[in-house]
Amino acid sequence: MLLLPCPFCGARAETEFVFGGDGSVAPPPEGENASDAAWTEALYFRDNPRGAHRELWFHRHGCRRWIAVERDTVSHAILRAELLVPSARKDGQA
Ligand SMILES: [Zn+2]
Repeated sequence: MLLLPCPFCGARAETEFVFGGDGSVAPPPEGENASDAAWTEALYFRDNPRGAHRELWFHRHGCRRWIAVERDTVSHAILRAELLVPSARKDGQA
């Protein structure tokens, strides 16, 4: 089991989180004017990297915030974690 370091709650079991997918995927820059091929590439095709990989996780049973985690896919070592949408207040109060 992975221990994910939520920047808001601290280290928590992965069972508290929902996997949100590949964090390196972005929609086509053309937006709604992008071709079907560009949308197909963005929505369905993923790399399967060996080594550092950016993933999105939602802390469902915790702070209910999205975090981006950089994880080594070989060793499962967590290299970095950050809140995707930081709180408007620096002290973390909602
Ligand atoms: Zn959290």
